[in-house]
Amino acid sequence: MQERNRLPRPAAKFRSSNFTLLSSHFRTTAPDPRRVALWAAAQGWHVLPLASRTKLPVRGCDRCSPGSKRRPNPHYVEHDGHGCECIPRGRPCHGVLAATADPDRIAAWWDMMPGAGVGVAAGPSGLVILDVDCHGRQPPDDPAELLPGVELPGDTIPAGVVDGRDTLALIAEARRAPLPGCGPETLTVLTPSGGVHYWFRAPADTNWRPLAGALGWQLDVRAGSSYAVAPGTTTRAGTYAALGECRTVAELPVWLARDLDRTGHRVHPERPRAVLPWRTRPLGTGYVAAAVRDELRAVAEAPSGTRNGTLNRAAFSLGTLIAPGRLNRRQVAAVLLDAARHSGLPEREAQAAIRSGLAAGERQPRTLTGAAA
Ligand SMILES: [Zn+2]
Ligand SMILES: [Zn+2]
Repeated sequence: MQERNRLPRPAAKFRSSNFTLLSSHFRTTAPDPRRVALWAAAQGWHVLPLASRTKLPVRGCDRCSPGSKRRPNPHYVEHDGHGCECIPRGRPCHGVLAATADPDRIAAWWDMMPGAGVGVAAGPSGLVILDVDCHGRQPPDDPAELLPGVELPGDTIPAGVVDGRDTLALIAEARRAPLPGCGPETLTVLTPSGGVHYWFRAPADTNWRPLAGALGWQLDVRAGSSYAVAPGTTTRAGTYAALGECRTVAELPVWLARDLDRTGHRVHPERPRAVLPWRTRPLGTGYVAAAVRDELRAVAEAPSGTRNGTLNRAAFSLGTLIAPGRLNRRQVAAVLLDAARHSGLPEREAQAAIRSGLAAGERQPRTLTGAAA
C-alpha cells in the first residue's frame, strides 16, 4: 500500500504545464538533423531519413517507390524490399529496411538531404518504444477495452480518464510499479501532438513486435519493424523534444515486459515441427504434386542468404499453376509459409516474398500440356 501512495496521481504527474513549456523551448532550438542522425548512430541505433518536415520515410528511387493510391508511380517495379539491391548500394529505399548505423552512409544521406528528419528503426536498434497517445477522445465504456486483461478496482473506469497517459498510470498502479520515467530514468520524448514516447532497451535475446492499442487504450508499441522519430527532429506539427536531461535508454522494466508479452508484443521463436506438413498433406496430383513437393523442399532447405530468393521463385513457379485451376492460392501460400518457417526465414519477410511471387506467377498462368496432371 505504501508503494501505491508514492505513485503520483496521473493528473498531477502528467497534466503539468511543464510539458508545454519544455516542448516550446525545444521548438526554437531544434538541432541540425545530420547531428541528430550521427548521435543516434553513436548510440548503436539504426537510422533512416524521413521526408523533410514529415514523419514518413523519404521516397526511395523510382524503381522502388509504388507511389500513392491516387498517384501511383508508373516506374515502380514490384519487388520485395528485403532482397533489393538498392539497400547494399546505400540508397535509402524501402524505409526501415534501409536503416543503418554506419556513420559514412548516414553522412552521405544527410549531405544529399540536409533537411531530412531522423527515424530510428526499433528492431535492429534493440529498442522497444512505448508510445503514449494523447488524443483526448471519449474513453471506451467497457473497462475491458481500456486495459484488456487488467483488473481495475471496482471494475469501472475511474473518472477523469482522458487519454493514454491515464491508461498508463492505471496499469502502473495495478502493477504497483513506478511509472516509466519515475523509476530508472530513460529517454522520454514529447511528440508534437502532446503524446509521450518512452524509449527502452529490449532485454537481451528478446524480440518484440509493434501493435497499436493491444496493451491499452491509446498505448501503442514501436518495436520490430516499426520506427520512432528521434528527439530533435522537427516536423510541420512541431519538434520531438527529449524531456529533462536523460539521453540514455533503460532496459524495458520487468513489469512492462511481462504485460507486453501477455498482450502479444513478444515474438517467441517458433518451435520446430516434428512432421513437416507437406509430407502428410500433398497438394495437387501427378505432375503438379511433384512440382509442389520439389519447390517446398527447395524452400525448406535453402541455405542462409538464398532463402528469400528461393521462396520468391518457388511462389512464382507455383503461382503459375493457380489460374489454370491446378492449385488453390490459400493452400499454396500456407504450405510455402510452413516451408519458409522451417528454413528459418522471418515470418514477415516470408509473407512478403510469397505474396509478390504468387501474384507475379498468377499473371503468367502456365499452360499444362502432354502428360501433365
Ligand atoms: Zn531503390
Ligand atoms: Zn527496391
